[in-house]
Amino acid sequence: MFDMVIIGAGMAGSVLAERFAAQGKKILLVERRRHIAGNCYDEIDDNGILIHKYGPHLFHTDDVDVWNYLSRFTDWQVYHHHTKVFIDGKPVPLPFNFNTLHEVFPKSLADKLETALLSNYEYGKKVPILELKQSPDKDLRFLADFIYEKIFLHYTEKQWDLPPEKISGAVTARVPVFIGRDDRYFNDRFQALPKHGYTTLVKNILDNKNIKLLMNTDFNEVTELRDGEIFLFGQKFDGRLIYTGQLDELFGKKFGELPYRSVNMKFETINAEDFQEAPIINYPNNYDFVRITEFKKIHPVKTDRTTILREYPQKYISGENEPYYPIFTDEARTAYEKYSAELAKYKNITAVGRLAEYRYYDIDDIVKRALEVFDALNE
Ligand code: UDP
Repeated sequence: MFDMVIIGAGMAGSVLAERFAAQGKKILLVERRRHIAGNCYDEIDDNGILIHKYGPHLFHTDDVDVWNYLSRFTDWQVYHHHTKVFIDGKPVPLPFNFNTLHEVFPKSLADKLETALLSNYEYGKKVPILELKQSPDKDLRFLADFIYEKIFLHYTEKQWDLPPEKISGAVTARVPVFIGRDDRYFNDRFQALPKHGYTTLVKNILDNKNIKLLMNTDFNEVTELRDGEIFLFGQKFDGRLIYTGQLDELFGKKFGELPYRSVNMKFETINAEDFQEAPIINYPNNYDFVRITEFKKIHPVKTDRTTILREYPQKYISGENEPYYPIFTDEARTAYEKYSAELAKYKNITAVGRLAEYRYYDIDDIVKRALEVFDALNE
């Protein structure tokens, strides 16, 4: 009856379902949650504001194929994101750039640091903070230490509950110094939000007669793996299984649990038109939360109330909260490799996505990855 089973109706699973459905394949798409779109899921709340249930998701890409592909399913609202970071009692622009320099240091020092940055790095470059820390220039090392201490260290400790040296370079590279005055959080060519939200975008992606969506259903209720073979509703299944969930769950966690970091998302209604001066303000220090998002600054709407979200990082406990971020320690990688070796025994299973590949994918990266997997499976 079905040519393919896809587990998970997040971005990866939905794009792959659409691509194969467009070839005429019959797809069974199985989703555990009561909604589609995975962690991109958004909805209009009681205040009439579009909120992102699993934390702020801001689309940006340099990849024209990803942009063109998604543009078939949504119109866009141009949106260039700005984040501020609360240090020494006030919010200043992030990534740390020349504007930030002048907001936190007296003019003479800011000028000196600006000159040092310009003579060491190309204008318009992003320099990871850990790289700046190695600079032979003592003024730049001073700047790196300042940013490390005020922006990076305590945020990272709260977010990951790990010392910074145990965290992968892929994460730490996300805190750069920007050589220039561009205050935007991203510099990509395309920066925009789906005009009617991510949920509507994914709904449009899945609007295909060849896709049968089974909601509220755990993959264990429909599929079973035994000795290199896949069973669907108890019958041997020879089609492909695309799995986008946690890889440890696919194999009954037999090599132990893969660690994730979770976040307690606390939404609050504020009885005022405005709450803060930027869509997102990060709080590296002093508080238990890491950042506050004000959603009407992302999706503008005229209301006399505003919805904010405070994010409190927490331990991931299976079945109790959501697995947001894979924790990239060496131990976790070793465990992941064991699951990968197990996966390799099943020729007809492909694991894709943030959970299944245990990778920190941005939205555009995951769409690109899904399109690549589609091409590879067609070869
Ligand atoms: N980070 C930080 N200070 C900040 C923002 C980010 O130290 O003000 C570090 C922190 O380790 C975080 C990582 O950079 O986990 C990635 O942050 P980003 O906001 O890019 O990631 P998101 O949580 O939105 O995926």
